[in-house]
Amino acid sequence: MESEARQEKHKAKQQRLKEKVDAGIARAQEDKGLLLVVTGEGKGKSTAGFGMVARAVGHGLNAAVCQFIKGTWECGERNLLAGHGVEFSVMGTGFTWDTQDRASDIAAAEVVWADAVRFLQDERIQLVLLDELTYMIAYDYIALDRVIEALNNRPPMQHVVITGRGCPREIIDLADTVSKVQSVKHAYEAGIRVQKGIDW
Ligand code: ATP
Ligand code: MG
Repeated sequence: MESEARQEKHKAKQQRLKEKVDAGIARAQEDKGLLLVVTGEGKGKSTAGFGMVARAVGHGLNAAVCQFIKGTWECGERNLLAGHGVEFSVMGTGFTWDTQDRASDIAAAEVVWADAVRFLQDERIQLVLLDELTYMIAYDYIALDRVIEALNNRPPMQHVVITGRGCPREIIDLADTVSKVQSVKHAYEAGIRVQKGIDW
């Protein structure tokens, strides 16, 4: 049996928590298009980005996705979301981890970036996911200045999610919400290969 004193203590603590949460909710009154970054070494960055796309689409919002790394396999999210009106721009050729040809990589990055710019100018699109964009900047395929300019000039209510490791400081400074996914362990380190529905 819980003692009465403990019950009372719990109730008082929950009450304080509720007041704090309610005050926070009351304070947050603003609406704006957010820039969100999901970076870090751990698994879950693209999954989080696609989770937000699914969430937005579930509310009837329009979303568009740029995938800046050529996958060697098909993408479960694309299979699902493309059928729900989400426009995808995917790097069809070029950049992968074992890339050799810088010129063709840059050309491939530019094609997807041109779509990104188009999405970032279209106020009918309420959420844009720029998946793995950070690598294009790190490899100097797309200049940081151009990315910052496109982000700054987008429609005021448009949300943008950028994923990828090593997000540059300038984008983190510009962002409203930044999460860094930390790797505690990953099945891959135990010799388990990527699994359908989990990794792609
Ligand atoms: P996911 O797409 O699963 O959310 P991610 O976007 O966080 O992963 P990326 O760096 O884009 O991670 O790598 C994508 C692929 O690499 C996925 O197959 C993922 O499982 C794998 N991966 C992610 N983090 C790690 C890690 N720390 N060690 C090994 N493999 C990883
Ligand atoms: Mg990813």
